[in-house]
Amino acid sequence: MNWEIIVEDTALPPPAISWEQLPFGRVFGRYLAYAKYQEGGWQEVRVKRFERLSLSPGTSALHYGQAIFEGLKAYHRPKDTYFAFRVADHYQRFVRSAERLVMPPVPAELFLGLLRRLLQVEKDLFPPDLRHALYIRPLYFAADPWLGVRPSDSYIFLIYLTPVGPYYGEPVRVYVEEELVRAAPGGTGSIKMAGNYSAAMLSGKKAQQHNCHVSLWLDAIRHELIEEFSTMNVFFVQKGPTLITPPLDRGTILPGITRDTVLKMAQMLGISWKEQEVSIHELTEGIAHGSILEVFGTGTAATIMPVRSLFYANKWWQLPPTHPIADLLALTYRQILSGEKSVVSEWIWEI
Ligand SMILES: *Cc1c(COP(=O)(O)O)cnc(C)c1O
Repeated sequence: MNWEIIVEDTALPPPAISWEQLPFGRVFGRYLAYAKYQEGGWQEVRVKRFERLSLSPGTSALHYGQAIFEGLKAYHRPKDTYFAFRVADHYQRFVRSAERLVMPPVPAELFLGLLRRLLQVEKDLFPPDLRHALYIRPLYFAADPWLGVRPSDSYIFLIYLTPVGPYYGEPVRVYVEEELVRAAPGGTGSIKMAGNYSAAMLSGKKAQQHNCHVSLWLDAIRHELIEEFSTMNVFFVQKGPTLITPPLDRGTILPGITRDTVLKMAQMLGISWKEQEVSIHELTEGIAHGSILEVFGTGTAATIMPVRSLFYANKWWQLPPTHPIADLLALTYRQILSGEKSVVSEWIWEI
């Protein structure tokens, strides 16, 4: 099916953006791509003014957490190419997240059609250089206005944009979470669902109290195997060098698109890599003995983020101050975005 996507209020003036002092996720675009699912079909499909939604206090998503989202980025190349990165992969993950929460699938034509129209009308929000990006936030939630624990009959799907700069300014200090659990086998750790992030907030607070930026999660059962950060996947660089990241098969790790991009870049660069479980004991011993040279996180928001130190078992574990593999991968990532390095064409979704 093809949706005719109406754009309301096409003459909104562009916002003034000071790219050099841009807090993450605080400045919004002028427009909101919007669609409502009810009575078995999609209605009110349009790109409209970004403004408050009017919702019933009974809105199902607020009570029972039937809500998912995505996070992807769009960029502008000097020679006038406007594109979003790995859109098809983000869409597929969005579909899987919806399936797990018994939400009706958002058709590809609707998702992509709304996204394209939105990016077109917000063209002057694209950043001037590749250190900045236009962050895209698709959101999908249950909209039934009455109580009762069951999948909603109506849903709201929307996409909005926020221009962003770098996420963390410096290599991060990591709090290893030994007590709380983010995801268990059979749970929802492998989808981008709202509740995963609220469940991680207490650990985030503990991290802050220990002067750390982020939590690193261990497996739910033995509290030993390293899984990921609250918003990033994790990589280790072993002497060799070999790149290691935990496998996804327990279903407790979010299958990051950046994780996948990093593995593909390692392949391109001839860096050996493997998916392998790493326990927190192996990691701390490896750091102490110098066999683990780097640890870094990967995610769309933060891209590739080196780790400075870890707080675990009441001790600080320091990583070496340089992180050449993370730097090489970050450079290669920028070269992919700038077009200096070519990649499979589906990764670059031109608008
Ligand atoms: C979004 C997210 C990531 C990173 O995924 P990308 O597709 O690389 O952005 C990693 N872990 C969690 C828990 C996430 O929510």
